[in-house]
Amino acid sequence: MLKCAICENDSRFEPVLSKGAEAGFTCHLKKCPRCEFIFMDPQPDVDLQKNLINTSTVYDSKLPDEQETQNRQIILDYIERFAKPPGRLLELGCARGYLLAAARGSGWQTVGVEFSSKWAEYARSRLKLDIIETWLDGDSFDLKLTGKFDVIVMWHMLEHINNPKRFLERVGPYLKNSGILIVQVPDFAKLGETIVGCHHLNYFTRDTLRRLMEHDYYVIDVTYDYVNKFVSMAMCKTFSVLFVWRLMEFPRIVTASLHTITAQGFTEFLRQAREKIRHREFRIKSR
Ligand SMILES: [Zn+2]
Repeated sequence: MLKCAICENDSRFEPVLSKGAEAGFTCHLKKCPRCEFIFMDPQPDVDLQKNLINTSTVYDSKLPDEQETQNRQIILDYIERFAKPPGRLLELGCARGYLLAAARGSGWQTVGVEFSSKWAEYARSRLKLDIIETWLDGDSFDLKLTGKFDVIVMWHMLEHINNPKRFLERVGPYLKNSGILIVQVPDFAKLGETIVGCHHLNYFTRDTLRRLMEHDYYVIDVTYDYVNKFVSMAMCKTFSVLFVWRLMEFPRIVTASLHTITAQGFTEFLRQAREKIRHREFRIKSR
């Protein structure tokens, strides 16, 4: 029996559904009654997970590399609402590296991490990218990275990671204090059973993703893709007046924020930010 990866509750998970998946594996989803996080329990062992991701065809593409790279511009535009090049950008779970190639074209110094040797090799040889090949999970990983990054991107990878809270704690030190963390995951609340397969361990909703992130980060943007039913979030580690000023500097960000940061709008967003800063200051003083 697992502990809830978000609130660490370790008892009485509610069954959500059971579904036969690939490779004869039956996927059982459970929900934490305390924080509503939905996850697979039990989880397939690491070798099976690797095999399932490596052999899955859902990530395949027949488009030319240039087109794939061009298609990532929309993700890059999202990232660059919060941070501009030059700087260092790390993508965890970079697959063939198309987003990194687009980011490099925009002036970022890029590093990718990918566990699949075929994709890592593709990104290195075809796109000439700097790629580290290693398995990623919440228990152990060795990124062999030096220095910190201005941006860390996890685009459709956090749903594959066991113990995502622990994983985020391990990734945190690689992000600069002024850095931005960008995440996109499928939304289980909207996609439901259609995304259930044994290669996803976590089934986030907007609320549970936010709950997870708010342990260590300030959520500065939540954007919803209504077509694909994906949720994107941008987070920062330190929330300063300077950061708010940077947001104000770009009217389109403020406009986007009014729709997305909280349902109550920007005033509520600022109130929450001030409260968190106070809370953090209190924690520092009380140590
Ligand atoms: Zn929980």
